[in-house]
Amino acid sequence: MTRTAVYPGTFDPLTLGHLDIIRRGSRLADRLVIGVTTNPSKTPMFSTEERIAMVRQETADIGNIEVVGFDSLLMDFAESQGASMILRGLRAVADFEYEYQMAGMNQQLNDRIETVFLMADVCLQPIASRLVKEIARYGGDIHKFVTPAVAGQVAERIGQKGQRG
Ligand code: ADP
Repeated sequence: MTRTAVYPGTFDPLTLGHLDIIRRGSRLADRLVIGVTTNPSKTPMFSTEERIAMVRQETADIGNIEVVGFDSLLMDFAESQGASMILRGLRAVADFEYEYQMAGMNQQLNDRIETVFLMADVCLQPIASRLVKEIARYGGDIHKFVTPAVAGQVAERIGQKGQRG
């Protein structure tokens, strides 16, 4: 039996925290599907296609990963992928309330799929995409939080915006 896990997220942009969860998750599952959400409510810096490409490029060295965009109910997406697990990363207390509620409601929607929480390396826990973007917008160095390629893409995107005024 192939054990498939889905790791959903916005990944706007992909951080070292996400990558750490992905590496840990890839060891738990035979097949790890990274679901990149459209999430228009968050008005992302990068389009869904750009985020999919970014995640693909940074996980190319891990064998059992697939990166897929999705725009539906998470449980429907997980079911369509044949997943038995949903992976989420948990950072200290900040994520708990939201994740607890979401896992509880998802359990009501589909009790056959288990939500599994993973903890990133302690040093990587404070990293959040939102703060990475904020630091970059103010000219701060984000190389401790994202890969060099992602840092380049963020800098380029902020530069483009700056030029447009
Ligand atoms: P979402 O919009 O679904 O919260 P994110 O891209 O912000 O998407 O996060 C995807 C998942 O990765 C979430 O479960 C989030 O808690 C987790 N995550 C993000 N950053 C970290 C980190 N630094 N350490 C551990 N988990 C993280």
